[in-house]
Amino acid sequence: MGNTATHCAYCALQCAMTLTADAGGRVTVGPRDFPTNRGGLCQKGWTAAELLTSPHRLTSPLLRDDRSAPFREASWDEALAVVAAAIHATQAEYGQDAVAVLGGGGLTNEKAYQLGKFARVALRTKNIDYNGRYCMSSAAAASNRAFGIDRGLPFPLPDLAETGAVLIAGGNVAETMPPFMQHLAPVVDRGGSLIVADPRRTATAERATLHLPVAPGTDLALALGLLHIAVADGHADRAYIHDRTTGFDAAWRAAAQWWPERVERVTGVSVQAQRATVAALAAGARGRGAVVLTARGAEQQSKGTDTVTALINLTLALGLPGRPSSGFGCITGQGNGQGGREHGQKADQLPGYRKIDDPAARAHVAGVWGVDPDDLPGPGPSAYELIESLGTDGGPRALLVHGTNLAVSSPRGRFVAERLAALDLLVVSDVVLSETAALADVVLPVTQWAEEDGTMTNLEGRVIRRRRAVAPPPGVRTELAVLTELADRLDCKAEFSDDPETVYDELRRASAGGVADYAGIGWDRIDAEGGVFWPCPTTGHPGTPRLFADGFPTPDGRARFVAVEHRPPAEDVDAEHPVYLTTGRILQQYQSGAQTRRIPALAAEPHVEIHPDLAGRSGLADGDLVRVVSRRGDAVGRVRLTTTIRPDTVFMPFHWGGEQAVNRVTNPALDPVSRMPEFKVCAVRLERVPREAHAAPTATRGRRPRRVVGPDRLPSGAKELAPHEPTD
Ligand code: SF4
Repeated sequence: MGNTATHCAYCALQCAMTLTADAGGRVTVGPRDFPTNRGGLCQKGWTAAELLTSPHRLTSPLLRDDRSAPFREASWDEALAVVAAAIHATQAEYGQDAVAVLGGGGLTNEKAYQLGKFARVALRTKNIDYNGRYCMSSAAAASNRAFGIDRGLPFPLPDLAETGAVLIAGGNVAETMPPFMQHLAPVVDRGGSLIVADPRRTATAERATLHLPVAPGTDLALALGLLHIAVADGHADRAYIHDRTTGFDAAWRAAAQWWPERVERVTGVSVQAQRATVAALAAGARGRGAVVLTARGAEQQSKGTDTVTALINLTLALGLPGRPSSGFGCITGQGNGQGGREHGQKADQLPGYRKIDDPAARAHVAGVWGVDPDDLPGPGPSAYELIESLGTDGGPRALLVHGTNLAVSSPRGRFVAERLAALDLLVVSDVVLSETAALADVVLPVTQWAEEDGTMTNLEGRVIRRRRAVAPPPGVRTELAVLTELADRLDCKAEFSDDPETVYDELRRASAGGVADYAGIGWDRIDAEGGVFWPCPTTGHPGTPRLFADGFPTPDGRARFVAVEHRPPAEDVDAEHPVYLTTGRILQQYQSGAQTRRIPALAAEPHVEIHPDLAGRSGLADGDLVRVVSRRGDAVGRVRLTTTIRPDTVFMPFHWGGEQAVNRVTNPALDPVSRMPEFKVCAVRLERVPREAHAAPTATRGRRPRRVVGPDRLPSGAKELAPHEPTD
């Protein structure tokens, strides 16, 4: 099929690449120049094609009649008939909301849109949410209430290189999306400031001009303290505050309580470093510009929305949003984390970033879908709350999963496995037998990345094309085809299509007039221009690379300061659990690892970063196995001694299942606004695992005997850590 210009399979940077397929259908990856990656790829991108021909690839539907039986291969006709009959029976007995749907931030815009429509129109259930709830929800909530819009970056990524100062709160782009660093390096090279707030001196912090080693769960106090200094030291832009914002006085009253010495006591960041941070941002504001960026470290907390809000308040006080090479942004994580949160797979949302409880929005979208607005369900619960309710009295009895491996990525993992086990029907569409698929009654093999056409919206809000480079293996279908056929078998009268451009054109009509307006962005235009920024209401509109130059999309055109108060983590350290745990990603792996763990070149070991002082106090040495134990569960990793982490904190990446799943340990305490779980901080103790113990089949502990395949029977515990093996 020759060369195909497309974008990476993984993160929101969506690096441009060229795929070359040989006569045998084998695909190789080459980098392609694009404004975001400038010809760069990380090793995940370079190796992305290996999963296309992986022996772990699913190529036939799998069924089992009960969960004590192994999977057997089935025809598509049988599998879809089983699913449709079970949905019919479940809804007949328990009502429409008894069937739930979970989507993902890696789905194309077309799949995310069709999934939301399928839930609301074919299933008529309120119970749909997606894994972006674990990713961008706090940043989205804070951006919406401050600016009236949620687009991760309000400017093209290359604008960063022009600015004079950048503060990154809780992000490690040097590891998670390395080509991003090309946009930060010029800031430092020209004598500007790159400041990173993180409990760890990460690869990004190593390249910064200043590292703020903030204690886990105290980013909000730090942000309030920075606003305090900005105002007290005379850096506030009074004219901007007067002309372009509301709510400053209340926000200042809250920040006034956070004088630098108090902030140092709470956060561990010195007064000197706080002042240097504000001075650098203020100098940028007076010169080439200044930017504050947040990522999951600041956002994945039970106060994540308020933490992001406090940092937005800081940028507003300095007069940054809407000015050239300046402003506030959040670094989106998942490949389509931006588009995936715009087109209707969120519990409270309809396409175009419309609210599902807005009568005008319901009327518009119902008109596009050809249904009565009164037939559309209302808002449902957030992802974790939905999972909590699975199989309970009055909760969903059946769950359809698309593009998420919730058994690994959700907090309090053992409890999540229990809720999945309590379902009458679990249907998972995936490319491999993920930990979640391994628990299912029905597994549907679907296309991946290089086998499908569609669109993605990258971290800048630029809508780009994903293009098919090879045919999928026989036996594999697209999720658009799966949803279309299921809708038909459920006797749904609304139209569904398995053609991605047809679905996209419907999405454009559904989004027209909404906040995330794609009406003017046809595939032909993306092909011709390489990408178009939303909002773009008409085909003659140039798109909107930069937001806020002329005002904010709020009722009065002003950005809103919102007063927020610091509070401690939902779970603090104590005598029994005296150490903070924080989690994150590493260079070689992506999210739950379902894809990247199956690529040998990306082999990596689950590890626990520990400061030598803490290791000494805990009787641990480099290379030991350590069990990290919280009130909810435990996970095992290998000790990696490092002085780049605070001595009161350990770090463990979250890419593995089974005994190595750190999300068995993390805290599901939710942010009251965004419903984001507190992944980034909880209290743990450390237990050295004796060598004789980790040679034993520890996975038998707590095994659910009726499971034939599942996280508790993963190979990880059956021998001394087998970290490179896929966990199926
Ligand atoms: Fe892919 Fe992200 Fe790596 Fe780019 S940085 S190659 S988009 S995983």
